[in-house]
Amino acid sequence: MAKKPKPLDFHSKWSYAPAPESTDHVELKKSYGLFINNEFTEPLSGKYFETINPARETKLADIAEAGQADVDRAVKAARKAYDDVWYGMPASERGKYIYRIARIMQERARELAVIESMNGGKPIRESRDLDVPLAAAHFFYYAGWADKLQFAFPGKPGVKSLGVAGQIIPWNFPLLMAAWKVAPALAAGNTVVLKPAETTPLTALKLAEIIRDADLPPGVVNIVTGAGATGAAIVNHSGIDKVAFTGSTEVGKIIQKALAGTGKKYTLELGGKAANIIFADATIDQAVEGIVNGIFFNQGHVCCAGSRLFVQEPVADLVIRKLKDRIETLIIGDPLDKNTDIGAINSKDQLGKIKRLVKIGIDEGGTCYQPSCSLPSKGFWYRPTLFTDVTQASRIVQEEIFGPVLSIQTFRTVEEVIEKANNIPYGLSGGVWTDKGSKIFKVSSQLRAGVVWANTYNKFDPTSPFGGYKESGMGREGGLHGLSPYVNLN
Ligand code: NAP
Ligand code: MG
Repeated sequence: MAKKPKPLDFHSKWSYAPAPESTDHVELKKSYGLFINNEFTEPLSGKYFETINPARETKLADIAEAGQADVDRAVKAARKAYDDVWYGMPASERGKYIYRIARIMQERARELAVIESMNGGKPIRESRDLDVPLAAAHFFYYAGWADKLQFAFPGKPGVKSLGVAGQIIPWNFPLLMAAWKVAPALAAGNTVVLKPAETTPLTALKLAEIIRDADLPPGVVNIVTGAGATGAAIVNHSGIDKVAFTGSTEVGKIIQKALAGTGKKYTLELGGKAANIIFADATIDQAVEGIVNGIFFNQGHVCCAGSRLFVQEPVADLVIRKLKDRIETLIIGDPLDKNTDIGAINSKDQLGKIKRLVKIGIDEGGTCYQPSCSLPSKGFWYRPTLFTDVTQASRIVQEEIFGPVLSIQTFRTVEEVIEKANNIPYGLSGGVWTDKGSKIFKVSSQLRAGVVWANTYNKFDPTSPFGGYKESGMGREGGLHGLSPYVNLN
């Protein structure tokens, strides 16, 4: 008689086999110049800096650092392209170029995803399934608007592009943020000078190659790499008509001061500290997945991350227990492995900031919980972290950490949780989990936040506007709303 097979043991010593994405098809140059007039050129500054893989601390390429004179060159190229070519081009033709960028991005999606994960540390599953497809979707979406601006702004026949847009983006969604910026600017008929973040320039430089391959007229999109000083040079350049900034509230305030009285238009997409609210009548297992996605997606490097959890008292113990069980199963490690849930922290600096704030949380009396997982010895890593015993006044409840750290508070009534959720300098996003539609409407209409998700979290679509209140910034990106910062209506 055949022996009965032993049942599979899924509970002890069980793990996924490694499933690393190949880097064979990725082409990276040793060094990248500044992308001006559709060419990679040596920086006049003569300076370069290294960009690394934060999961391995290995160098990926040398990157040009644009100085004042380089920014000036890029702005002049953008101005000339605007005056000579882009402004007078039929809108339907402009749209074709944007469609072409979208299609080439799709063709090179795999390469873009791998580079995004190598340079930024995010899991390949996220860059492959979210960052890159959504970036292409933004180009597709705005390409469609290019020749329909009169329908976007009915009753405003004088709708007109602004000129040269200076755009500055952060490191958490490098390619996606570039798409959020470049696509609406081009669709509305502007030309662009874009600066990616210092730690994550590579996919923006790949986008530069795509723009060149899409045969855009030289100077329509210029990409200048560098750090904060390069960003400041763009903001302060007199040839810039509009500044679009995504980054920290701290730098947003500096930019707002610098722009006061200049007549330049601007949008600021800044930090956040979202409340994710779980009512006792929510589907608890689904909510736990939503909490995990809300805070641990992209290592918590997400402006709209659900970093403050509010659980209604009757289910608080249950939710926290399930949450602890769930984070025990999260896989932390190689961003290029398809099984990885949590990748590398983007930089040594950011890791330092997370550690500092967690220490403050503990010093202020918070109880910190982390799973037992081991971390790779090289690279920048941080375990998913839960904090209980925190109050509204705790610094880790009030300040954006921008890492995989969740603070947990409880509440009894709808009124109480709305009060607590809104009692914060930020107002970017929020989440509500409940079985009752009426509660969803009550909470979402009273949360002072630009985006509120109900029974889901971190859902994005190019047709949907995104942006904040209070210290989370001003202006909206995405959707029809995302076009208006790039046009004059009179
Ligand atoms: P950051 O330090 O403010 O930097 C953002 C960008 O601005 C980078 O390219 C940076 O250059 C540049 N920059 C720095 N100082 C500048 C200055 N004085 N003038 C002009 N540009 C300057 O922010 P981050 O640390 O990269 O990104 C994290 C922040 O972005 C978080 O607060 C997050 O919430 C926010 N964020 C918001 C949204 C949103 O849509 N609301 C989306 C994503 C991220 P470097 O290369 O030197 O950094
Ligand atoms: Mg920074």
